[in-house]
Amino acid sequence: MISAEQAEQTILQRVQPFQAETECEQVSLMDARDRILAHPITSPLDFPHWDNSAMDGYAVQYADVATCSTESPVTLTICEEIPAGKQPQVTVQPGQAARIFTGAVMPAGADTVVMQENTQRQGDRVTVLAAPKPKAFVRYRGDYYQAGQPLLPAGLPLRATELAVLAAVQCGQVPVLRQPRVAILSTGDELVEIDQPLQPGQIVDSNRYALAAAISHAGAIPVPLGIVPDRPDALKTAIATAIAEADVVLSSGGVSVGDYDYVDQILADLGAHIHFRAVAVKPGKPLTFATFTEKPVLYFGLPGNPASALLTFWRFVQPALRKLAGYPEQRWRSPLVTATTTQDLRSDGKRETYLWGHLAISNRSFEFRLAGGGHSSGNLINLAGTNGFAVLPIGVTSIAAGETVSVMQVASAF
Ligand code: AMP
Ligand code: MG
Repeated sequence: MISAEQAEQTILQRVQPFQAETECEQVSLMDARDRILAHPITSPLDFPHWDNSAMDGYAVQYADVATCSTESPVTLTICEEIPAGKQPQVTVQPGQAARIFTGAVMPAGADTVVMQENTQRQGDRVTVLAAPKPKAFVRYRGDYYQAGQPLLPAGLPLRATELAVLAAVQCGQVPVLRQPRVAILSTGDELVEIDQPLQPGQIVDSNRYALAAAISHAGAIPVPLGIVPDRPDALKTAIATAIAEADVVLSSGGVSVGDYDYVDQILADLGAHIHFRAVAVKPGKPLTFATFTEKPVLYFGLPGNPASALLTFWRFVQPALRKLAGYPEQRWRSPLVTATTTQDLRSDGKRETYLWGHLAISNRSFEFRLAGGGHSSGNLINLAGTNGFAVLPIGVTSIAAGETVSVMQVASAF
């Protein structure tokens, strides 16, 4: 049994991030949120595109208004009115001002905008009551970005802020890395579909739904392949199909040491290199990780218990998916925060222990409240509504209420 840290290292070492040359696709800008930019973006446009006004007011020559004040105001003649979106027609001469609105193009001859609030208008004349700073309220062409310079680098995750930039440079189709396809196999003779009547001994395959949501949230595409009975031939066919169809295969169940737990044997038969079969975490000890020589597929055999399946996903699978998908390293792992626990936390100290609960901000710092009810890995009921796991390292058997604890924030639970 290896440590969580070693398991994570082993996994991440075997993940080759998608490369733009082979794994690029175009998506429309509206669908590009949370995707990873595959190629750098440059633009032939300057930003701003034109010298323009940052205020509603009057475009003037600075020299005309440099010394004016309420005691010695300056009156200028209005030569033109320039609404946003219109090309100015005349050049502002000494003694003149052009009425201008926010975002409107600066007229030739003017270098400064006097804000409307510092003026008084009388017909076709305007009196300036306060001296602006030179070049005040002019957004000059190319102030924010010069045509041809690098604009957005490859590898950037696209959020609202980047989408605005892409729209502004008229990039309607965005080159992004494709998303990893993640097959989900639910193994177990006791599992039934969500709409099947339950016979004695049966339970619904809930892991499929939980894992599909977590996979989407991690930036990948879930490919649910259904329930596989605990029969070696059926399992072998299902796993072989999954390997052929996906970049990553997740099976849940069948990896403990029960008499019906065949997954490891089948992987070996399929030529897998099994890197580990157990990790010193609780819940989630029976976690298998394998790779194949013929195809760069990652195989994770997750434990069947719902809490174990999700914890091992968030702790080990998500970083692998995010690395594969091309996310920058600081976005691979679920973030760890330091929180004050409101209850005593306990562990047997033998494995790195994850206790689920509620992370909240209280008095400007994080507070962790343990989920009520049993913390058995089969309890999926009290997982609902939780958003973090307190982490008790190996060797730590208790953390008292009021002390601090590391909490793994589980983003998809927010
Ligand atoms: P196993 O790892 O196959 O020994 O399963 C461990 C526990 O998880 C058993 O109680 C299973 O019934 C349960 N389990 C396995 N797969 C699923 C699943 N897809 N959805 C919900 N529970 C499951
Ligand atoms: Mg099973």
